[in-house]
Order: sequence, then structure tokens, then C-alpha cells
Amino acid sequence: MKKDVDYIIEQGRARRRRLSLQPVFTFFMSALFTALIISSVQYIGGDRSSKTDSKVKIVDGIETEVSDFVELSSVSEGHKLEIEETPPVSNETAQPSEIPSVSGKRIVYLTFDDGPSGYTPKLLDVLKKYNVKATFFVTCKGSDEMILREANEGHTVALHTCSHNYEIYRSMDTYFNDLNTVSARVARITGKSPKIIRFPGGASNSISARYNKGIMTALTSEVEKRGYRYFDWNVSSGDASNNVSTTDAVYRNVVNAVNGRGDGSFSVVLQHDTKDFSVNAVEKIIQYGLKNGYEFKTLDENSPTVHHRVNN
Ligand SMILES: [Zn+2]
Repeated sequence: MKKDVDYIIEQGRARRRRLSLQPVFTFFMSALFTALIISSVQYIGGDRSSKTDSKVKIVDGIETEVSDFVELSSVSEGHKLEIEETPPVSNETAQPSEIPSVSGKRIVYLTFDDGPSGYTPKLLDVLKKYNVKATFFVTCKGSDEMILREANEGHTVALHTCSHNYEIYRSMDTYFNDLNTVSARVARITGKSPKIIRFPGGASNSISARYNKGIMTALTSEVEKRGYRYFDWNVSSGDASNNVSTTDAVYRNVVNAVNGRGDGSFSVVLQHDTKDFSVNAVEKIIQYGLKNGYEFKTLDENSPTVHHRVNN
């Protein structure tokens, strides 16, 4: 009888122990489940970005800033670019990067990459109409006549590389050989060898790591030793992104970002004169700028620096 009572009491205790352990077990299982979900989402995210890169590569095998844009704007919005533009304090590329805000003046540097192209004449006409000067980072594409016209009409002709093929990042030599080729082209046409350059993909591109780990770290330093100044951008029109394909979208991206930078700021705007819809946005961008007190200038060796963070 006593044994039976003891047995019943013991059974009751065991049930209470099981009950008191149940919440602990439930908590443990849900934590494990959450961890699994998070790690699989990260895996999918990483996989998607690498797929985007390889898709871009298959598409043209030569470049496209589409891939660059994907990397730069994977977080979306202009804020990301602003962060990237600010180098670490200890970084030797840190230079006076803001125009003194005393004047409260806002300066816009319109820059056009990858041309000349068939759309460049239309762009030059618009710039001429408003007497606005811009900067062209040219390649070996397009006509000599357009490069001559850019120079004659007071724009800065700057270098982007000849081929714009990411294979230039295989080595220091392959990069400089390609840069020298476009430099020779511009010198032949204009009589001047530009010292203003922009890296295909920007200094922050990580596609170059496929060809040479650390090449951007080496190149960003070496180009300056060789007397060049390189410029990235702090306002992207997004015109190289698959998500931006209308003139209105380009206009809104540029104007919102430029406007968001505030008084005493400067904006280095990235557009491509190889894109018709982007070129078509320029007149409205200029009209907005002039109406709102912005000053348009060309990049030169004394312009404030915009350097992205180097990722390779
Ligand atoms: Zn480019």
C-alpha cells in the first residue's frame, strides 16, 4: 500500500519535472529553427548576388557598369554611395573632400562614362544650349570627331580605359597598357594627355578580384604616383541598373540625390552617354539645377576628391 502511494507520488513528481522542462525544450527548438532560417536566407542572398554577377558576365563578356551598379547599390538608395565615398580616417586617400560650406553654394559635376556614342552629339547640343560644362570619361569607342567636339566646347575629356573590359585588372601592366591606349587616342585628337581618370566599375569594384586579388588597392595608389587623379562618384543616376530604364527615373534619381546633399556640398553625378534615356534626362537636370542655384563645373586636377572605399 505504501509502495503504491509512493509510486503515485513519484509519478506526479516525474510529470511535474517533464512539465517544467517543456518550456526550455520549446525555447531551444525555436532558437535552433530561427538560426536555421537566418543562415539559409544569408546563403540565398549570397548566391543571388553571385548569380547576378555571372549573368552580367555572360551578357557581354566585356564589362558593363550594370555589374558595378549591382555591387554598389545592393543595399539600394543613394545613402550607400555616400558611405562608400568616405574613406577611413587613416586612409591616405583621405583628402579635403568637401568644398568649404562658407558660400553655401552647391556644385554639380555632371560626368558621362563609356562614350562617345551615337547619343553624344545630342548631349553636347543640350550642354551647349545652357552653356553647361561637363566631364567625359571616354573609351576607345565612338568617333574622334565627338572627342574633339567635347574638348573644343570646353568640357573635360578624361580617361576611362580603352577596352573597358574587366580583364584589364589582371595586372598592373594590363591596366596601364589599356589606359595608355586611350590616352594616346585622346592625345592624338586633342593634343593633350588627360590626367583625370575613372576606373571601370569605380575604385570600389570587386569584380576585379576575379582577375587579381588586391589589384584595386595597388592601382588606386599607383595611378596617383604616376600623376593621375581618379574620380568616383557620389550621385548615381542608376542608368546602368536594370531597374532604371526611363528618362524620368534618371531625372528623379539625380535630382533627389543632388538635392539631398545640402548646402555647401558638391555632387559628382554618374551617367552614361551610351544610354539614350539617360542623355534625354540631362536637359531637365540642368534646368532644375540652374533654377535652384546650383553651379555646374567640370572636374579638373583641383576638384574635390570623391573616392569610393576600395574593396579589392
Ligand atoms: Zn564605365
